[in-house]
Amino acid sequence: MTATLPMHARAAELASAGELPAYVYDLSDLDAHMSAVRGALGDIEVHYAVKANPDPKLLQVIAPYVDGFEVASGGELTHVRTHFPDMPIALGGPGKTDAELFADVTRLHIESPSEIRRLFAAGRSAEVLLRVNLDIPISGASLAMGGGATPFGMDPAGISECLDMLAGQDAVHLRGIHAHLASGLEAPAMLELASAILDYARGLGVTEINLGGGMGVSYSDPDARFDWKTYGEGLAVLRRPGETLRIEPGRSLTVYCGRYVTRVIDVKRVHGELFAVVAGGTHHIRTPATKGHSQPMVIQEPGEPTTIVGQLCTPKDTMARHIPVNLKTGDVVEFLMAGAYAWNISHHDFLMHPKPAFRYLGG
Ligand SMILES: *Cc1c(COP(=O)(O)O)cnc(C)c1O
Repeated sequence: MTATLPMHARAAELASAGELPAYVYDLSDLDAHMSAVRGALGDIEVHYAVKANPDPKLLQVIAPYVDGFEVASGGELTHVRTHFPDMPIALGGPGKTDAELFADVTRLHIESPSEIRRLFAAGRSAEVLLRVNLDIPISGASLAMGGGATPFGMDPAGISECLDMLAGQDAVHLRGIHAHLASGLEAPAMLELASAILDYARGLGVTEINLGGGMGVSYSDPDARFDWKTYGEGLAVLRRPGETLRIEPGRSLTVYCGRYVTRVIDVKRVHGELFAVVAGGTHHIRTPATKGHSQPMVIQEPGEPTTIVGQLCTPKDTMARHIPVNLKTGDVVEFLMAGAYAWNISHHDFLMHPKPAFRYLGG
C-alpha cells in the first residue's frame, strides 16, 4: 500500500514553484519499462491499449516498442491518427457507431453478429477479428470481461453465426480471433487463459489471435511487476509456426511512469480519526475511488495512521486510508502508480476546482 522512497527532487521543485497539484510523468522510466517488456516478448506482437492513457507524450515513447495502437472509440482513433498517421490501428469496443464501424483501420474487432450485417449492408470491406467471450472460469481477476454473460464480445454461438455470414464472400475478411477476458491476472494464469483461447481459435482454423490485455498490476506493491519474461517464454512455447499472436496491454505499460503530486491544505482530527486534506483529490485521480483502494504514496516520515482526502464534498473523495505517515499543512504528498486510468478517467469538472499541472521528466 505504501512505499518508502526518497521524494523525487522535481516534486519539491514543483512545490516551491507553486505548481501543485501536478501530474509528473517520467518518460525515461516509461522508455526503460517498454524496452524491458518488448525484450521479453520476442515475436509476440504488442498493441498498446490507448484508453489506459492517451497522453501524446507517452504515446511518443511507447510507439517505437509496439506494433500498433488499440483504440476503443472514434475519439481515440482521431487522436491517434492525428499524432501517428502511419501507425497500425486496431479498433474495438461495444456499441460502435457507423462512423466507428466503417472507419479505415488495420484491424476491426467485431463485437456482435449485427456488426457484420451492418458492414454487408453498407457494402464495406474490413479486416476483422471476431471477439469471443469464452466461458472459461477466471479466478483471481480484478475485472472479468468474459467467462459468463457480459456485453463484451460473442459467445461461441455468436461466433458461429458470424462465420456462416463471412463464408463465401471476401469483402469482410476474417483474420482471426480476439479475446480480452479478464484483468489483474499474473503470468501463469494469463498463460492458462492464452492456452484455452488458442485451443478455441485452432478449432476454427484461424492463425491470428489477439489475446487481449489485463496483465496484473499490484497497487499494494508498487515495486512488483508483471512477470513479462515468464509470459513471453510461455507464449513462445504455445505459439505454433505460422501463427500470429498479439497482446494489447494498457495499465501494465503506463501505470508506473506517472505520479500525482500535491500538498496538504489542512490536518484535523474528527471523532478520533486523523485526516489530511490535500489540494485536488479524486476529481484529478479517480483511481482510488473506482478501485476502492488506497493510492500508494511516498512516506517521508512515518507517523500516526492518517486518512488522506481531497477537496470534494463527498466521502468518496478518499485518496488513502489509515496510512502511517506524519503530515502537516504545506507538506508535499506524492502518490504513485498514477500513469494509467488516472487523469483521463476522472470527473475533473466536479466542483470546478483548478486543473492540475502536467510535467514530463526525461524522455
Ligand atoms: C481495456 C482493454 C484493454 C487493456 O486492458 P488493461 O487492463 O489496461 O491491460 C485491452 N483490450 C481491450 C479490448 C480492452 O477493453
